[in-house]
Amino acid sequence: MRYHKGWDFVSPMGTPVYPVAVGTVQSVALHPKKGDKYGKFVNLKFEENGIEYWAFYAHLSAVSVTPGQEITSTGTVLGYVGDSGNSLGIAASKVHLHFEFRSDSSGGKGIADRINPVQFFGAPPYDGIFYIDDE
Ligand SMILES: [Zn+2]
Repeated sequence: MRYHKGWDFVSPMGTPVYPVAVGTVQSVALHPKKGDKYGKFVNLKFEENGIEYWAFYAHLSAVSVTPGQEITSTGTVLGYVGDSGNSLGIAASKVHLHFEFRSDSSGGKGIADRINPVQFFGAPPYDGIFYIDDE
């Protein structure tokens, strides 16, 4: 047992990933180093009620946005679900989206600076499509 920093959404390889809000692409990883746990990722900065947050999407198979890019529509594809990085571990499937809400752009050690997304979205439907394991 160990802490998990976000939600794992088990999805088919190549499923498009959309932003949770409009914002600015803070950073991406296109060529993660070997052993990098998050693999290809997109880190999106957005504001809610005047407070800055970051939505972090990891283990992508491809990234379709660039740092500094303004995301003006939640219909913009950020990237595609994959199995890059260390996608084994928590999720039932190696191919999945790892999703975090953060109160700081880079996130701290362990679960520091991670926010429970339930406060934004409510509890997810426990229908077997995805699950929550945020400890
Ligand atoms: Zn995960």
